[in-house]
Amino acid sequence: MSSSAGKAGPRAGAGDLLALVRSGRATTRGALQQATGLSRATVGHRLDRLFRAGWLREGPADPGGSPLGGRPSVRLEFDDRHGLVLAADLETRHARAAVLTLGGELLAEHTGPLDIAAGPGPVLDTLGRWFAALLVQARSPADAVCGIGLAVPGPVDHATGRVVQPPIMPGWDGAPLPGLLGDAFRRHCGAPPPPVLVDNDANLMAYGEQRHAHRDCAAFALVKVSTGIGAGVVVDGGIFRGVDGGAGDIGHIRVPAGQDARCTCGAHGCLAAIASGRALAARLTEAGVPAASGSDVRDLLAAGHPEASRLAREAGRHVGEVLATVVTLLNPGVLMIAGDLAGTAFLTGVRELLYERALPRSTAHLEVVTSRLGERAAVRGAGALVVEHVFAPERVEERLAALSL
Ligand SMILES: [Zn+2]
Repeated sequence: MSSSAGKAGPRAGAGDLLALVRSGRATTRGALQQATGLSRATVGHRLDRLFRAGWLREGPADPGGSPLGGRPSVRLEFDDRHGLVLAADLETRHARAAVLTLGGELLAEHTGPLDIAAGPGPVLDTLGRWFAALLVQARSPADAVCGIGLAVPGPVDHATGRVVQPPIMPGWDGAPLPGLLGDAFRRHCGAPPPPVLVDNDANLMAYGEQRHAHRDCAAFALVKVSTGIGAGVVVDGGIFRGVDGGAGDIGHIRVPAGQDARCTCGAHGCLAAIASGRALAARLTEAGVPAASGSDVRDLLAAGHPEASRLAREAGRHVGEVLATVVTLLNPGVLMIAGDLAGTAFLTGVRELLYERALPRSTAHLEVVTSRLGERAAVRGAGALVVEHVFAPERVEERLAALSL
């Protein structure tokens, strides 16, 4: 993301220097001088503000030596232990909450049943309570929390953090989630709320996975097939959201095979109405195998249930048909299939249709892979998004000024 990469020029401020160090583009005083064109004294002065804030520290001497020659230079490191991030991932019937270091390491986590249909007030209050318990478990004070990230299974207006007409989140439309979660944090954790960022779960999973294991991939797509179906796209290291946050909402694309199926969004013929975990759970229940959600279907697939496997492969073919268009449009290097249904049967179905329907040129270098972070992808992505937000150069300047540094 260009906004967090740091200005490399004579107007570079402390925030830009921190961004250069964090991204690994310049990690010694000499390299920072070279990258910015600033004098040694000016670099030193700006670094001093970052040291005093506790955000930067000196590591071991760089064995490569200084690019300007002379004695070996000291490597500068972002101090990813000076603060914490809280993150939560809401599914339809359960949720996950975590405390992470600024480097993304998980310090404590909790998962438990949480019914999204209870509405934003009760659900976010419960998250506030979980966060308080997790901070105790991580032996961390609430005022060390730099920000909170929340993943939700619906479309989000990124600028306001409001959920917009979510098909599977009854009662959440338009609710001011950052404010509500901030209030819950204040109530349960007893500290002023830090910034709260809300994003779609598939977006955050894609962001977490891309940064974890596919950093060099400039066009990364992830499809999440759980109770619903959604997709996240990361282009040049940043989440691609579209103008209204609606990018990737592929579950409600109409497919010919679904014309008789009624979707939770009210329409007929949506992909989610025939190929989501919810749709498969309904088909299995009709066939005498009780299942209520994507996670129930996952359990049946894990147990090798033959009818569940047959339906998952068929669902994979329906999703693969839509993905053929997605892949042709985006030409991604990596397409990750994630969520409750992402097992062998489903992937087989996806591959069958994807390679049959997509143009060879758009699949020649395509890797179709499964998740590396598993159920933690969204909280890892949410944590990383918060860190990028809080340590964006312009905010670093603001916060240093607020600390009188
Ligand atoms: Zn729909």
